[in-house]
Amino acid sequence: MEMHTYCPVCERSGVQFAPLPDFYRQTSMQHGFRHFGRMEMIALNSYACQACGASDRERLYGWWLNQQIEAGKLNKGMRVLHFAPEAALSKKLRQLGLFDYRTADFMMPGVDYNIDIMDMPLEDESFDFFICSHVLEHVADDNLAVSELSRIMHRDGCGILMAPICLDISDTLEDPSATSDAERWRLFGQNDHVRLYSHPGYVSTLERNGFAVQQLGLDAIGQTVFTRLGLSQTSILYIVTRTPRPEHPHAGTPDHEH
Ligand SMILES: [Zn+2]
Repeated sequence: MEMHTYCPVCERSGVQFAPLPDFYRQTSMQHGFRHFGRMEMIALNSYACQACGASDRERLYGWWLNQQIEAGKLNKGMRVLHFAPEAALSKKLRQLGLFDYRTADFMMPGVDYNIDIMDMPLEDESFDFFICSHVLEHVADDNLAVSELSRIMHRDGCGILMAPICLDISDTLEDPSATSDAERWRLFGQNDHVRLYSHPGYVSTLERNGFAVQQLGLDAIGQTVFTRLGLSQTSILYIVTRTPRPEHPHAGTPDHEH
C-alpha cells in the first residue's frame, strides 16, 4: 500500500518534500567538513515541505504538538516561549490561538523578546513550555543557556530542546580558536556554529544543567509516522522536563516531603 506523505505543520496530505539545498553539501566539501550527511536528523532527500516550507524537524515538532494537544497535555492559556521561531511552525502556533504565545531571539526582528539566551531578563518559572531548536550550537556558553532555560521554565513544564547532532563522534567538539567562517565550516559544518554535538555530549549538557531528557526516536514514534513525515531513520526528538532542585541541601531522608 502506498503511504501518503503528511505535513503536520500545514496539515496537508500528499505534499512533496524537497531535498536539502545542495549549497550545504557543496560548502561542506569545499571546507573539508567530514560529517555532511551524518547528522542525526537531517533528511537529505526530504528536507522541506513544498507547501509550507517546514523542515523535517519542524514537522516532527508539529506532529508531537498535535499529539499533545489531542491528549490534553498542552492546555489552553499555557505560557509558551518559542526561540528563534521557525516561520511555518510559528505561524501554526499563532493560528491555533490556544496559548499565550511569545517569541524570542537574540537578533531576529519582529520577535517579542530580543534577548540573550545566556542571560534572560525573565522571571523564574515564567513559561510552561518552550521550543528551542538549533540555538545552542550558536551560543558561546551552552551550559549557561541550558541552565537559563531550566530556570525560566515552570517546575512542571516541558520543552522541545534540539540541536544538530553528529552521529560520527562520541564527544562534543568545541574549539574556541576556530573563529573564521572557513574553520567553522570545516569543524562544525556551518559558519555560525561554535560546536558540533555528539549524542552523549548533547544529552549530558542538558542533564548537567537542570533537565531530565526524554528521547523519542523511531522505536517510540514508529515507522509509519517517520515515513509519512519524511524523517530520517535516526531522528530523535528531545523533550526536557526539570529535574527537582535540592532546595534544602540537607533534606533527602526517606520521610522528607515538600
Ligand atoms: Zn507543510
